Amino acid sequence: MLQGLYVDYSEYMTDKNRDRTSLNRITAPHHFEQFVKKNHRIFVNRNLRMNSIRWVGFDLDHTLALYNRNFIEALAFDLAREVLVEQKGYPASLLDILYDPAFGIRGLVVDKKLGNILKMDKFHYVATAFHGMRPLSKENRKELYTSGALKLSSDRFWSSDTLFGLPEIALYASVVDQLELEGWPEGLTFRQLFTDIRYSVDLVHKDGTLKEIVMPRMSECFIRDPKLPFTLEKFRREGVKLFLLTNSDYKYSDTVLSWVLNDDSLNRRWWEYFDLIVVDAGKPGFFDESHNWAPYEDERHNVPCFSGGNFSMLQSQIGARGDEVLYIGDHIFGDILRSKKTSGWRTMMVVEELEYEILAIMENEQDHKRLDKIQIKNADLQETLRECKHHRDKLSEKKISNYKSLTPDQLDEIDAQLEVFADQEREIEGKLTRKLLTIKEVEETIDARFNPYWGPLCKVDSELSRFGDQLGDFACLYTSRVSNYLNYPPGKFFQSRTEFLPHEL
Ligand code: IMP
Ligand code: MG
Repeated sequence: MLQGLYVDYSEYMTDKNRDRTSLNRITAPHHFEQFVKKNHRIFVNRNLRMNSIRWVGFDLDHTLALYNRNFIEALAFDLAREVLVEQKGYPASLLDILYDPAFGIRGLVVDKKLGNILKMDKFHYVATAFHGMRPLSKENRKELYTSGALKLSSDRFWSSDTLFGLPEIALYASVVDQLELEGWPEGLTFRQLFTDIRYSVDLVHKDGTLKEIVMPRMSECFIRDPKLPFTLEKFRREGVKLFLLTNSDYKYSDTVLSWVLNDDSLNRRWWEYFDLIVVDAGKPGFFDESHNWAPYEDERHNVPCFSGGNFSMLQSQIGARGDEVLYIGDHIFGDILRSKKTSGWRTMMVVEELEYEILAIMENEQDHKRLDKIQIKNADLQETLRECKHHRDKLSEKKISNYKSLTPDQLDEIDAQLEVFADQEREIEGKLTRKLLTIKEVEETIDARFNPYWGPLCKVDSELSRFGDQLGDFACLYTSRVSNYLNYPPGKFFQSRTEFLPHEL
């Protein structure tokens, strides 16, 4: 009965029940996590005691603010497409291509030399490749990428690691397709095309085109998480101070956070949740460059607020050691890797794709069990088939080697036995074919629950994908959205599982 019950601490966060002691009395049982839906859990790569955290920092876009991805991605795609045509002289036919929201997952790599898009495993071996929107055959892929692990630091490759990067992957693939279909422009290289697409996407973010459309349309562009204000409140009640650290500018952050956090019924404004606000941060450079920050005045509040700056300035402003800070962000390099490496901050990565990836994994559990059973039967059938063939070969050999000494009746008897084995083999082959067809069907059902082009985000067959490997390596914690923190008791000790080498299992 209790399985799958969503433990929601938000009810303890109402006005009636706001004192910290009452919150602390709510001690969840040790195994309470089993009652939290799996796609709302926080996963632990490295131990983290919330009791030792004094400051929690938040990225804004795709972290506190959850975008309606279909809307924002299609918009970025359309705007960048227009820049390509109007500023870069590409054919107007590109204005007709449509955004396919499924074509793109995080962690893909663009091969600018050959115009391909690649998904790779943790050793950087290419597992899936597309040219345009068309998959490369296994032979073709092996021919192009057999020389071993790819050197991703080379200028030939571009890694797409943020959700904001997905439209440019889809745009690159569909423009390659379209131009190859209608006649590739003379002198254009795959590399130049990618440079132009990167320029276009960058431009629509930087010149305000995208944000001007987004700002008046908050309800269409963002998914409002009603639990988010309670979550920030929960952090504060645990005695933790909060800061915002975003690459977005103040005006945009103000508009977005007003939509996401303001509560008119309580007369609560977004800045009341924060003790420090940093906008225009310029991450990842923020963590290892020395830009100054400028104070930013907003006459509506007196929370310290800065534009730009760098990690050392922020650190001396908050006066906390690196390991007393938890930074929550969605960008594996800009937010997670750099903050952890340079500052020693603890990190939590928001991977919103987990919401549906985990459901897919759970739905697949039964099918995997079914597949395991069929595979065992399949292996038994193959073994029996091998035995039959072995006996038949032996009999046939006996007939050929001993035909002089065998009587006609004995030879007939051998033929009869050969016939029995042949019948058995035919029957087993038939069963085997039916089993293989079932395996194919179950495998297709399993695959269909993930991205139709690229499969699971974190896996390549039984290996980790490059993205899955980075997630495990760089983030101390990871979860699908910030408000999942509400499911955990105050001061939680997030404990990683004991690690095993294969010989220990
Ligand atoms: P965050 O809150 O630190 O995640 O900030 C993300 C900001 O980066 C948003 O304001 C985006 O518009 C901006 N952004 C995302 N992709 C690009 C890009 O390719 N070029 C310039 N800005 C970008
Ligand atoms: Mg972000």
